[in-house]
Amino acid sequence: MEFSLTEEQRMLVESARAFAEQELYPYEDEVERTDQVRPELAQQIQHKAIEKGFYAANMPEELGGGGLDSVSLSLFERELGRANFALQYLVARPSNILQACVGDQREQYLLPCIRGEKTDCLAMTEPDAGSDLRSMKCTAKRNGSDFVIDGTKHFISHADIADFVILFAATGEEESSRGPRKKISSFLIDKGTPGFAVRPGYRSVSHRGYHNCILEFSNCRIPQSQLLGEEHQGFAVANDWLGATRLQVAAMCLGRAYRALKIATDWAASRKQFGQFIGRFQGVGFKLAEMTMRLEAAELLTLKAAWKTDQETATDTDYAMAKLYSTEMLAFVSDEAIQIHGGMGLMADLPLERIWRDARVERIWEGTSEIQRHIIARDMLRPYWR
Ligand SMILES: Cc1cc2nc3c(=O)[nH]c(=O)nc-3n(C[C@H](O)[C@H](O)[C@H](O)COP(=O)(O)OP(=O)(O)OC[C@H]3O[C@@H](n4cnc5c(N)ncnc54)[C@H](O)[C@@H]3O)c2cc1C
Repeated sequence: MEFSLTEEQRMLVESARAFAEQELYPYEDEVERTDQVRPELAQQIQHKAIEKGFYAANMPEELGGGGLDSVSLSLFERELGRANFALQYLVARPSNILQACVGDQREQYLLPCIRGEKTDCLAMTEPDAGSDLRSMKCTAKRNGSDFVIDGTKHFISHADIADFVILFAATGEEESSRGPRKKISSFLIDKGTPGFAVRPGYRSVSHRGYHNCILEFSNCRIPQSQLLGEEHQGFAVANDWLGATRLQVAAMCLGRAYRALKIATDWAASRKQFGQFIGRFQGVGFKLAEMTMRLEAAELLTLKAAWKTDQETATDTDYAMAKLYSTEMLAFVSDEAIQIHGGMGLMADLPLERIWRDARVERIWEGTSEIQRHIIARDMLRPYWR
């Protein structure tokens, strides 16, 4: 086993961390206060990311992306993850699933996203279909050579700034051993297409400046050329490309936990009560020990899943374990970091209360903690029940 980073990875980590500290941290307070990223600021960050070669780091080099292997990408995500979510998001990593684009779709959607000319968003969740995505009610019905889309999606991240949506909709039903089951297809739909409206979503406790939206489709007609992948194979396309987004969530949680742990350690080493540094009290020192141990365990799970991705041996369980453990670790570390600070931990003068608030969504999106546990247990038990 080899745990050390290559020289190239070390340089990537250093430059990504410097980028977060110099180009993103200075604007965090503003975004927290205003719940917005000013368009000029968004452009500035995007331009600097392109200049640095950070933009679309997840995409293959031959398409103009960064071409990072999965371990390097996870290290990169970890470093960007230290910063406010809305700001780091501007160093875009377009949805991997866009690599399923074929023919004209590549020039219309995939390549402009890699060049920073367009932004995608991805819509699966509906008011009545969250964890149980198969129960989605949004339909895409064939009408001549077109599809007609009807239905509502909600919680769709950054649809307010996206140029198009990667939409998942039901295109029929089939019999399965557990009864009738919806067939799902995915589509590329431009904003401005008649019958497609984007409305503001809900105010969330996590990720100020990064908004979720409601998408409404009513008699929205699109040509067959907007199908992404094969008809009825939407989940197959998703499974091929989206496992890595759980890894991205895991990696970003590491970065934020490192930041919280450093602030807490500095405080424990310098804050005095009862005439001594509070880190000398076991009650505080043991917290730090537990925080650093869980963080390291989460990092090992994440980098192992990334390494297996590079070997093409990663399983759903690998991604589930990395996502589950890292998101729960961040909840623990950010909470304990606040506890170590006492009242000061809750004040917006420090980034801790934001990291703590932002941590909450990580256990919910990209599959809840319960769903990750379900995936792990299912994989363990499947051989018994074949
Ligand atoms: C801020 C934010 C941004 C998001 N962005 C996007 C996006 O861009 N695109 C997108 O498509 N979706 C997005 N989502 C949706 C997200 O993926 C869902 O919220 C998530 O999958 C859970 O669905 P739900 O909220 O409907 O909860 P539900 O599925 O209703 O779950 C409610 C509770 O029941 C539990 N539960 C459900 N089924 C089981 C089970 N089988 N076993 C045990 N427990 C179970 C869940 O774990 C949870 O605790 C976003 C969500 C949020 C909050």
